[in-house]
Amino acid sequence: MANIRDLDAKGKNVLIRVDFNVPLDDQGNILDDTRMVKALPTIRYMLDQGATVVIMSHLGRPLKKLLPDGSIDIERFTLRHLVVHLMELLEVHVEFLPNSHSKETLDACKIARKGEVILLENTRFYPGETKGEEEIASQFAQLADIYISDAFGAAHRAHASTSSVAKYFAPENKAFGFLMEDEIKNGSILLDNPTRPVTAIVGGAKVSDKIQLIEKLMEFADNILIGGGMSYTFLKSQGYEIGNSLCEDDYVGLASTLLKKAESTNTKIYLPQDSIVANRFTADAETKIVSNEKIEKDWMGLDIGPQAKETYRSVLLASKSILWNGPVGVFEMEAFAKGTLFLAEAIAEATDNGAYSLIGGGDSVSAVNQADVSDRVSFISTGGGAMLEFLEGKTLPGIAAING
Ligand code: AMP
Repeated sequence: MANIRDLDAKGKNVLIRVDFNVPLDDQGNILDDTRMVKALPTIRYMLDQGATVVIMSHLGRPLKKLLPDGSIDIERFTLRHLVVHLMELLEVHVEFLPNSHSKETLDACKIARKGEVILLENTRFYPGETKGEEEIASQFAQLADIYISDAFGAAHRAHASTSSVAKYFAPENKAFGFLMEDEIKNGSILLDNPTRPVTAIVGGAKVSDKIQLIEKLMEFADNILIGGGMSYTFLKSQGYEIGNSLCEDDYVGLASTLLKKAESTNTKIYLPQDSIVANRFTADAETKIVSNEKIEKDWMGLDIGPQAKETYRSVLLASKSILWNGPVGVFEMEAFAKGTLFLAEAIAEATDNGAYSLIGGGDSVSAVNQADVSDRVSFISTGGGAMLEFLEGKTLPGIAAING
């Protein structure tokens, strides 16, 4: 594998797999261009080197959302929606090709001039992409001399454009882009040699989604602060009455096993002592603060309470490395967002005091933005599922494809 800085890209075609899976409104307007902006350093670098840049990406799940007649909803999922904004960001012309690997696409890439930027149509318009098929991967490979993997958000997928394509390039002709390098470097800080104490906040709706993360964290974290919907499955496993709160009954046993296991490791697992409970799952529900020991029958916990907030804050402020994955309440509703925003501020404060903090997972990232502390944390990952799997210690196909 090569380092991007060592590649000789002058006069060559460079195929960059980016993650341009941006949210769009019904008219195809971009609602948040973060993913595009994060891909710019690699694209610009290659242009500065005198390369021709061929960009490929997926956008949404077009084959899962077909039109009633069974055809692809091209209008909704085309990457054409991004062309104008990409031109504005790069300040160069961008040529859009309406197919990611046809004969016409190959011909257009062959005659492209130095310094030109080509954007290919959505790679997921073709079933071979998500199956990682060799046929489509080899066609992608013919478009360029060099392959750059920069789509961290899709690196946990063994798809043709993120994984299979790389084997058609010699080690000296493929590399990670700058975004990918940054993600790997930051994830590795926590996994390989973190400064202690290490604290992870694990929130979100379900225990089942985060079991593997919690098990991995028990190998190296000093503290795990549990929050969000999943905390009630843990609380129930301790014999608490959780009323109508979210609970995965199938996981109560496993939650109890994890808590017992933690007692024999050096990891301390914290469960919230209290909650903001509501009588309905609505923004205007009646609410009150209660101890988690007994949540009444018709009430549900939708945010952590004041005692949990203070306990979690003091653990965070005493930490030197912090990982955050998942909100500790239904933060989409203002009435239940306070715990999550409070912890975002506490992480920022800990970072101001010298701690390292990594925010991974789409919801935690938007909470950090909402709390207006995005520039006071150490690193915000662009990959929700990908960062989760990375931190679980899994080998991501998009990383293995380059590492060999
Ligand atoms: P995840 O994708 O697993 O990180 O879960 C995020 C979702 O968990 C968000 O949509 C939150 O609204 C939801 N969530 C957080 N706390 C709770 C709770 N106490 N009850 C129900 N849902 C919750």
